[in-house]
Amino acid sequence: MDIDIKALPTPCYIVDERLFLRNLEILNSVQERTGCKILLAQKGFSMYSLFPLASKYLTGVTSSSLFEARLGYEEMGKEVHIYAPAYIEEEFEEIMSYCDHISFNSFDQWNRFKAKVKNQPTKLISCGIRINPEYSEIETPIYDPCYQNSRLGVTLANFRPDELEGIEGLHFHTMCEQNSDTLERTIRVVDQKFGEYIKKMKWLNFGGGHHITRSDYDIETLIRSIKYFQEKYGVEVYLEPGEAVALNTGFLVAKVLDIVDNGMKIAILDTSAACHMPDVLEMPYRPKIIDAGKPEEYSYTYRLGGHTCLAGDIIGDYSFKQPLKSGDRLVFCDMAHYTMVKNNMFNGVNLPSIVLYNEEEGIKVVKQFGYEDFKNRLS
Ligand SMILES: *Cc1c(COP(=O)(O)O)cnc(C)c1O
Repeated sequence: MDIDIKALPTPCYIVDERLFLRNLEILNSVQERTGCKILLAQKGFSMYSLFPLASKYLTGVTSSSLFEARLGYEEMGKEVHIYAPAYIEEEFEEIMSYCDHISFNSFDQWNRFKAKVKNQPTKLISCGIRINPEYSEIETPIYDPCYQNSRLGVTLANFRPDELEGIEGLHFHTMCEQNSDTLERTIRVVDQKFGEYIKKMKWLNFGGGHHITRSDYDIETLIRSIKYFQEKYGVEVYLEPGEAVALNTGFLVAKVLDIVDNGMKIAILDTSAACHMPDVLEMPYRPKIIDAGKPEEYSYTYRLGGHTCLAGDIIGDYSFKQPLKSGDRLVFCDMAHYTMVKNNMFNGVNLPSIVLYNEEEGIKVVKQFGYEDFKNRLS
């Protein structure tokens, strides 16, 4: 990493615009080669200081709530899509003021809100239904929308062809961090089960979970899959990746506060798995750290823990070539997505600052947090 990490406030999330731009260019090349439309799923990445840059390449945003829809509308200002497992009646008018595409999770939801959509005078809103093709290749149930008794999407058995009037699109989301071979197998099932309905649609949304910007991602198979539906049914194809937009573009920089000993050396950091990288505990997974190895790989092994009082606030065991000491900085990799959007102030722990890096301006601290942010969520 060529950024001067000693110049950064800690903890901080830093996103490298050069890497972000590279991802946008890859995504845009898929749009250009196929004519498909790619939306940023804000659930995974909502760093809106980068939305103006993203808007030069992507078609718009997708959102899962009123607040995300509003953020995308205000900060990106292009197409705004929304899908939620259920909409809140009191919020729906405002949702319609921001969104041009609304996908419903059930025919009952569609029937409840369709008059509102029809009767709002200001713009055209294209409506869709989320389907559940009951096919996915995800091992972890918490991330599997096709898991047994899933609440997400309408299965073929529950599909109501006679209630489709006014529906212009179908939406499926069944992938997570996957390559396009999974997509290719998935669309075969989608086509086999729902093809006769896709025929009547204007658009088909392939959801997220496509790891398009990963170095081993097979873009040709993605392109073939998009073209398959475009050519067979004349539909417009949408993709809405979150993770792939920000994949490998950001870091979390933290500082060692103390080293304690209890059967092994344990370093306590000014960051926290529970507060600042919740997927480390939820998924769970082990983030990479620059210049660190697996336990015992280098001479000095440490368990890295957060500074909350949660016993399980442990990031993992890592080894280093030099002993760690207070004040040392650690750089956690791939920390742009599903971090800022999920972090919290448990234990009164402050949030990491948000920092941008680009070649012209260097390091730019775009946001710092403080006591007021903590207090404002409580009463
Ligand atoms: C989570 C989600 C996405 C984005 O998924 P990524 O894995 O971040 O690409 C897109 N669409 C829907 C409906 C989602 O729930």
